[in-house]
Amino acid sequence: MKAWVLRQTAPVETEPLELRDVPLPEPGEDEVLVRVNACGICRTDLHVVEGELPPKRPNIIPGHQIVGVIERHGPKAGKYKVGVRVGIPWLHRTDQTCAYCRSGHENLCDSPEFTGYTVNGGYAEYAVAPEGFVYPIPEAFPDLQAAPLLCAGIIGFRSLRLGGLSSATPGFNLGIYGFGAAGHVCLQVARHWGAKVYVATREAKHQQLAQELGAAWAGGAKDAPPEKLDAAIIFAPAGELVPPALAALKKGGTVVLGGIHMSDIPSFVYPLIYQERSIRSVANNTRQDGHDFLRVAAAIPVRTQVQVFAFEQANTALNALKHDGIRGAAVLQLQKPHH
Ligand SMILES: [Zn+2]
Ligand SMILES: [Zn+2]
Repeated sequence: MKAWVLRQTAPVETEPLELRDVPLPEPGEDEVLVRVNACGICRTDLHVVEGELPPKRPNIIPGHQIVGVIERHGPKAGKYKVGVRVGIPWLHRTDQTCAYCRSGHENLCDSPEFTGYTVNGGYAEYAVAPEGFVYPIPEAFPDLQAAPLLCAGIIGFRSLRLGGLSSATPGFNLGIYGFGAAGHVCLQVARHWGAKVYVATREAKHQQLAQELGAAWAGGAKDAPPEKLDAAIIFAPAGELVPPALAALKKGGTVVLGGIHMSDIPSFVYPLIYQERSIRSVANNTRQDGHDFLRVAAAIPVRTQVQVFAFEQANTALNALKHDGIRGAAVLQLQKPHH
């Protein structure tokens, strides 16, 4: 099969991914072989390719927002039939035995595998994954629109939950800092739950998309929103946004850090966090988050704005993402849409 292989971590401007012919992966005992229709491009892919996340395995194939169709089962798989459309997410596998897994926190598993990082991902014609960790894709979503739901969407959803937002909190004031793939999905869920959403982002086109999707306000990256916030989610990988986000909170409010990597957070005066304000990060997600999110997303329904790139354009797409050139979410297209 054809696959994009990371030669060596390097700035994406140097095109470190190489299109190669590699052997078709063989599904393990509990795994399925999936023919990839589309694979979303996540900022985490950029961190894998450029080496902000330390390499775990040579010649990795990135990509962890995979939408495809089951072609074959390992001997102990078979819950989903051949031909079923599924999503393969970032959380590839957990050990299901550590203290975190046993207490409902498998997102913090001591021995996890991550798609497109510790095991091969979806910038390829085929991928394998444990059947217990894939999600059936709701019919409402075509392949290209479904792909960004699998990481940007699920992580955004978990970020909302950690910020204290739910269907039972109408009138909640939510701030979103950085408005890309995760932000634009998060906004739609938050509005569905009756929140007012304030978006801080440096790019004019991202501010415009936020307004089109119903943001109550959209301003510059460090601008103070006109209302105090119950929670602020920072999706931009920029630690310097933490102090202004704290300053925008109500008493008792939470800043949620939605990324896997962030530049250093500058020091700040204690009054910014006093009055029971808090900062917390989001690490991965549980499968329950994923199933809950896909159900909510289909009910709303969430509409993802996607910028589609041909499979051959993986390096180009990563460059566009790095330089704020994506409106909504970037997706690699492998198969023409069936829906
Ligand atoms: Zn575990
Ligand atoms: Zn991701």
